[in-house]
Amino acid sequence: MTSKYRGRFAPSPTGPLHFGSLVTGLASYLEARTRTGTWLVRIEDLDPLREPPEAAGQILRSLERHGLHWDEAVRFQSERHDAYAAVIRQLLADDRAYCCTCSRKELSAHGGQHPGDCRNRKAVPEAPHAVRLKLEDCTLSWQDRLLGPQAQVLRAERDDPVLQRKEGFYAYQLAVVVDDIDQGMTDIVRGSDLLETTAAQLKLFDWLGAPAPSYLHIPVILNATGQKLSKQTYAPALDDSRPVENLWQALQALGQQPPEDLLGAAPGAILEWARTHWSAKRLPLQSNLAPASA
Ligand code: GLU
Repeated sequence: MTSKYRGRFAPSPTGPLHFGSLVTGLASYLEARTRTGTWLVRIEDLDPLREPPEAAGQILRSLERHGLHWDEAVRFQSERHDAYAAVIRQLLADDRAYCCTCSRKELSAHGGQHPGDCRNRKAVPEAPHAVRLKLEDCTLSWQDRLLGPQAQVLRAERDDPVLQRKEGFYAYQLAVVVDDIDQGMTDIVRGSDLLETTAAQLKLFDWLGAPAPSYLHIPVILNATGQKLSKQTYAPALDDSRPVENLWQALQALGQQPPEDLLGAAPGAILEWARTHWSAKRLPLQSNLAPASA
């Protein structure tokens, strides 16, 4: 019998997979597998200006080379614009969102407050505008499965996240929740760099009438100068010809202490070991340095 657990790995295709994203992907894969759940891959391709067209294909190939096979068709957010537009219409109609014509410069000159009357505007303006979530002052508390009790203060106006940018692109904060709801996600495993985005996402789940998933934020992987591995910090692409070493090092970074003799095994065998021995309790609380080879 399959359980209800549904998890996902949701990379933004700004470049090929790097060691840090393998660690996140592997953690979400192993959580789903050990809880006899469904594991999906979702490509969060919302911003074509930051996404080389070959990156999504490279990421998917890399996952396959590492034996991380997903269960249902890959979802591409670039094919979901109608769904995002419908949710924006709903949020505007419910007075949970508003059209904002302010420039970033104007907002920062006013300490994040709108010099005009954006938040109370009813009609959709002719001028180019972003759509923002209309937060209320509140403190949101939730339980992270690794990091424990969390509380985040949301300040109306100053923290209102953008849902659709002036240029028309849908924003991560909107799309991630719309798809987590639509795909029936029950459990989110992702990097702790996204911890701060969680409160506004919980608000959106609530306002869209959907149950919130549970969250587990794993520490991010750092480079030698202490920055998160990412495209922006020039993280090198994973070497797909070394899946066993990469998986072994990723398991090590996840605190799972894989035995050395697995380094001579096939990717299938190392994943088999990982599925049998995986324990979220062993996850480190602190960020880890990337291995020298990554
Ligand atoms: N697309 C996001 C990223 O690559 C992750 C989204 C999520 O897991 O919530 O950082």
